Amino acid sequence: ATPTAVMVATGVGANNGVLIKGGDALERAQKIKYVIFDKTGTLTQGKATVTTAKIFTGMDRGEFLRWVASAEASSEHPLAKAILEYARHFHFFDEPSATKDDQNKSKDSIISGWLLDVSEFTALPGRGVKCFIDGKRVLVGNRKLMTESGVSISTIVENFVVELEESAKTGILVAFDDSLIGVLGIADPLKREAVVVVEGLQKMGVKPIMVTGDNWRTARAVANEVGIQDVRAEVMPAGKADVIRTFQKDGSIVAMVGDGINDSPALAAADVGMAIGAGTDIAIEAADYVLMRNNLEDVITAIDLSRKTLARIR
Ligand code: ADP
Ligand code: MG
Repeated sequence: ATPTAVMVATGVGANNGVLIKGGDALERAQKIKYVIFDKTGTLTQGKATVTTAKIFTGMDRGEFLRWVASAEASSEHPLAKAILEYARHFHFFDEPSATKDDQNKSKDSIISGWLLDVSEFTALPGRGVKCFIDGKRVLVGNRKLMTESGVSISTIVENFVVELEESAKTGILVAFDDSLIGVLGIADPLKREAVVVVEGLQKMGVKPIMVTGDNWRTARAVANEVGIQDVRAEVMPAGKADVIRTFQKDGSIVAMVGDGINDSPALAAADVGMAIGAGTDIAIEAADYVLMRNNLEDVITAIDLSRKTLARIR
């Protein structure tokens, strides 16, 4: 494209909250054959909420949530945020006495006063978190985390997790030392425009694909809801870039749409990387396009803009 065409397209994009980083990116976007979407925060709203907390032992619910929230307090993960929010809610509404002396304190300071001391906190990407509280090892995360740590999962627990996953929820398991204590069910609804955008891409001859670190069953349930047939699940954070490369093998032009820190290697590996939403600085830096409105329709806007700009100057 001529510098003028690029300038015009960049301006039109900017008016729609689509930032284009240069003419090469603009040219590549017209030839996109595959759009690979991250699931969490990209196809979904990224507003995870805990819908169930099931305790399989006699442990008190408030104490259970206190331990789990304490373990997740140092994690940046959206699932951790959801768990803390749920625990906070429980603490406020089911134990109102806890808030009475605290009228002038902020919610954050009240909750942090309620949380337990944690040592040796480790975030395990694609698995969950691990730490020690009161001398006990606390694990909060997926099956992989449990099996790798020698925690066995009973049939009752497994069936409960499967049921959550079949309804598109993520099951987060909680173990103290070697015993599985409970499971949290977490839902993250689709963005409202997701179904229409997936359909729109297909009509444009572009194939949508979903990639996620989440488990296969949840991934398939979400993909089904959104109308995507091709899914790659249980992909470790570093593996997303490898997924991109598989689709590039025959020379196809591949776009990746993602929002998180985990997505930046994939955004960089893609021919067209699109960071969506507030994004993280690192994702924005790795991307060729920044979709500032956090609306998936802008994936179509970006491709359209590229096609139209380049058609006009030919
Ligand atoms: P995504 O690709 O959907 O953004 P991630 O790679 O970040 O997913 O995480 C994959 C899975 O690892 C999650 O679905 C969850 O089971 C587990 N996990 C990661 N971080 C945490 C955490 N802080 N607490 C609990 N589970 C977690
Ligand atoms: Mg994500």
